[in-house]
Amino acid sequence: MKGYAGKILFVNLSTGEIKTEKTEDDLARKFLGGVGFGAKYLFDLCPKGADPLGPDNVIAVGAGPISGTFLHGAGRGTVVTKSPLTGGYMRGAFGGDFAAKLKYAGYDSIIITGEADSPKYLYIDDDTVELRDAGGLWGLDTKEVQEKIEELTASDFSTLCIGPGGENKVRYACVIHDVRACGRGGMGAVFGAKKLKAITVRGSKDVEVADLGKMFKHYNELIPEYETKGKGLTDYGTPILVNIINNQGSLGTYNYQKEQFERAEEISGEKLKAEHWKRNDACFACRIACTKIDQAKSDPAVTEGPEYESLYSLGSMCGVDDLDTLIRTDALCDELGLDTISFGLSVSFMMEAQEKGLLGDVDLSGLDFSWGNREALYKVCELTGKAEGVGEFVGLGTREMAKKLGGDAYKFAIHIKGLEPAGHSGRGIKTMSIGYSVSNRGGSHHDARPSMEYGFTREQREDISDKAEIAFDTANWTTFGDAAVICHLCEKSTGLVLTENYVRWVNDTIGWDLTLEELTEIADRIYTMERAFNCREGITRKDDKLPWRFMNEPIPDGPLKGMYCPQEELDQMLDRYYELRGWNENGIPTKERLEKFGIGYVADQLEY
Ligand code: SF4
Repeated sequence: MKGYAGKILFVNLSTGEIKTEKTEDDLARKFLGGVGFGAKYLFDLCPKGADPLGPDNVIAVGAGPISGTFLHGAGRGTVVTKSPLTGGYMRGAFGGDFAAKLKYAGYDSIIITGEADSPKYLYIDDDTVELRDAGGLWGLDTKEVQEKIEELTASDFSTLCIGPGGENKVRYACVIHDVRACGRGGMGAVFGAKKLKAITVRGSKDVEVADLGKMFKHYNELIPEYETKGKGLTDYGTPILVNIINNQGSLGTYNYQKEQFERAEEISGEKLKAEHWKRNDACFACRIACTKIDQAKSDPAVTEGPEYESLYSLGSMCGVDDLDTLIRTDALCDELGLDTISFGLSVSFMMEAQEKGLLGDVDLSGLDFSWGNREALYKVCELTGKAEGVGEFVGLGTREMAKKLGGDAYKFAIHIKGLEPAGHSGRGIKTMSIGYSVSNRGGSHHDARPSMEYGFTREQREDISDKAEIAFDTANWTTFGDAAVICHLCEKSTGLVLTENYVRWVNDTIGWDLTLEELTEIADRIYTMERAFNCREGITRKDDKLPWRFMNEPIPDGPLKGMYCPQEELDQMLDRYYELRGWNENGIPTKERLEKFGIGYVADQLEY
C-alpha cells in the first residue's frame, strides 16, 4: 500500500516489550489511519470500565496516509485514549511535524499500553526504538523538556511531551509538541499516570505515494483557494474570530451569562496583530500559516500567540480584557501542559460560583475570583499545574466541581459529557447544539463544525430541520481529516463537508479508487466505532445533552437574543441524527449497521 509507512509500533510500558506489526490492508481500508486506527485499537485493547489513569488504558499516537507528504497540514498527528475528564473516548490532533517524522521513521501509529515503574521517554530513531530513563526530565515544563531532549539527542528530533500538569494528573492536562497542544480531555494526565514523559522521533525513510503527478496537479489547482479563503487566518490567525463571533452575538462571556463581550475589541485578533505580533509560523507542509508568534509587553520573554479558543476561554468567559495577561496565561498553560479551554471555563465557573456565594468551604488559596481578575487567573493557572491549593479543585473541571459544590451549581457548570465546550455557542448555533450533544468527546468543536452556520441568517439558524444533517456531514469531514491526517483549517478552501477534493487526495496518495460515498462510509465507521466505545462504558442517549444553561436560559441580549436549545428541540435533532448514523433510539449503534461496516463483533460487547 502506498502512503503508509507499513508498520505499527507497540510499546508495553509495564514489561518494556517493544514490537512491530504490519499495517494490514483490511485495517487501512476500514479505518484509514490516525484516529481511525486509534478508535479500533482503543476499543479492542482497553477493557470496559478501565481506569483512565490505570495501566489498562491505551494511548494511540497516530499519523495517517497523508502525513509526511506535501499536502496541506500533513505534519499533524493524533492521540486517542480514554479520558480521565469524561470517562469516555477522547481524540485530539496537534500541529507541527511530529507525525511526518513518525512516518519517515517507518511507523503509521504507536500503540502504548501498561504503566512504567519509573519515568521514561520513548526514543525512536528509524529502527532503533528504546524506552529511556526520564528521571532527569520529570518536573520540567514542556519547553524545558523539549530543549533537554534536543540536547540529549539531536536537533532533528521532534518531541511530544507533558509538563507538570500531566505529571500531576490534572484531568485536563494536555500533551504538547513544539508550542502546539493536543489539548482536550486530559491526555497529558494519561501520559503522566503511565510515567511517560515524552516521545521523541526522527526518521530517514521516504513516504511513497501512488501518483505524485496527480497529487501535484490536484493540489496546485487549490492554491488560489488557500490564498484567498485562508487569507484571514494567514493575516491574523484564529483570533480574527473574536470580533466576528462577538458581533454575531455568540461569544461566550461571563460563563455564558451573556454572549457578547463589551470589551471584545480589547482582546481581538486585530489588536493582537497591531500591538503584539512578531511573526508568523506554520506547521510542516502548511499553505496558510495560521500560527502567530506574539510578545507580551510586560514579559518580552513570553513569545507565543493565543488562539481564538484561548481568548474566549481565558478572556471573555472570565471577563479578562488584557492581552498581556492572556498571552502570558496561554503560554503558561502550554508550559504546564494544561488545556486552555477547560482551564478557562473552570475559572469562569469559579467566578460565577463566588458571585453567587457558593464557594463556602473551598480553600481559595487567598485568591479573589471576581470577574476580570487578571492576577487571579495567572496565579490559579500556576496552582492548577502543580495541583496545589485551590488549583487542585479547579483542576477537577466544571462537572466535578459542580458535584462537589452541590445545590444549583450544575446549572452553570458549562460542559458536555464532562468536557468544557469551545467558543462556538451551543445556543446560537444549532449545528453545535446537536453537534456538541452527540459528540463522542463532549464539548469539541472538531467533531461537528460551526463554520457553515456562521454564514447563516438568524432565521436559518433557528430552523432545526437541517442541523442534524449538517452536524453529521461536518463530523464526517473532521473524522476523515483526523484519520488522513490533515489540518481542518483548510476547510473553507477544500470543503466544509467531504468533497471530491478529499477523495482525490486519498486516491492519489494510496492508489485506491474510492468514491465519495465510500470515503464517507470510512468516516462514518470510525465515528460509530468511537460511539461504540462510549456505549460500552454506559454513555448513551441520556448523556447526549447540553449544559443546563444552554437548554434552559435563552441568550439574554444581542443579535441572537432569545435563542437556546430546549429538550424538545434537542430530541428532534437527536432522533434524526441517530437515524443518519444507524444508531437505535437510545443512541447505540445497531447490530445491522455494525455488520454493514464489517465490525459486527463490536455488537457482542454492547448492551441493547
Ligand atoms: S493552518 Fe495553522 S494549524 Fe493548520 S497546518 Fe497551518 S499552521 Fe498548522
